[in-house]
Amino acid sequence: MAISEFDIISTYFNKPGLVPDSAQQQHLPLGIGDDCALLSVPAEKQLAMSMDVLVADVHFPVDANSALLAQRALAVNLSDLAAMGARPMAFTLGLSLPDVDEQWLEGFSKGLTLSAQKYRCPLIGGDMTKGPLSITIQVHGLVDAGKAIKRSGACPGDKVYVTGTLGEAGLALKVLNNTLDKITPAEANILKQAYYQPEPRLTTGLASVGLASAAIDISDGLLADLGHIASQSKVGMRIELDKVPVSSTVQSLVGLDKALQYALSAGDDYELALTVAAEQAEMFEAKVEKCGVQLSHIGTVTAGTEVSCIDAAGNSVMLLVQGYQHF
Ligand code: ADP
Ligand code: MG
Repeated sequence: MAISEFDIISTYFNKPGLVPDSAQQQHLPLGIGDDCALLSVPAEKQLAMSMDVLVADVHFPVDANSALLAQRALAVNLSDLAAMGARPMAFTLGLSLPDVDEQWLEGFSKGLTLSAQKYRCPLIGGDMTKGPLSITIQVHGLVDAGKAIKRSGACPGDKVYVTGTLGEAGLALKVLNNTLDKITPAEANILKQAYYQPEPRLTTGLASVGLASAAIDISDGLLADLGHIASQSKVGMRIELDKVPVSSTVQSLVGLDKALQYALSAGDDYELALTVAAEQAEMFEAKVEKCGVQLSHIGTVTAGTEVSCIDAAGNSVMLLVQGYQHF
């Protein structure tokens, strides 16, 4: 007999490790099982919320490993909390499934539990329906009231930074499509891991509260996402291309020029781009270093409205960013 919706929830979602533990129940007094979940928000905090909808064959291959998909779905949401300087509290899950595939659900539940534990972000509710495969997660986090790092706070003279290295998740799409030849299994693994298990920069985001003037997580591509900060802050930026941290794996696979294109234009890396006033820069750099996260100073916020790029000699470089497609 087919497993009921109720049994799916109790077997795969309402289980220890995935739902709040006794310590977490202090702020999450009611989770799965009632009409609503309840979250207690301390008076000095604000609730930060973000949602991402991932649709099969649009955002991921329909036959993707379900444990990896679960980790990616939670990570991309947590990355939005990181970009605001919020601490994860809990998440809700909307699932549309074409059929009940218990092997898929088992893997999905395992992957979700791994990430929920790693990032201390338990599942408190959701909804399920029959339909084309799609995964929607909404995360809830806490941030000190009035202290969230917004996209709108960058000022001329601020330094522009980016965490980690860029380009791997963009090139990974070619591995998933099997359109990249001459790649070793080890290199393929590095790229797939960047795509399915991006590291949400939560500790960096928290360390940046009170220091960064603006931040964004890189989902659309470095230049496009810096453009969001620029337009919301009503500023321009000058980016030094030789300072952009291009992944060495991508560079060795496609050469520096193409690797730089991936780093600038391909999305899905989920690193943070931040702006910091010059007076705060030293303290900011020290704090991020303590997080053990690579940090690159890649440019400067300017007056104006353009995000422009210069080469090592200081000459301006025109890039067809908008026209660049990674698949
Ligand atoms: P309602 O009909 O009142 O909306 P449901 O029957 O859809 O409630 O859900 C029952 C309970 O199970 C709720 O607490 C809901 O949050 C939870 N739930 C449903 N689907 C999921 C899911 N995919 N993941 C986690 N919790 C879920
Ligand atoms: Mg109800």
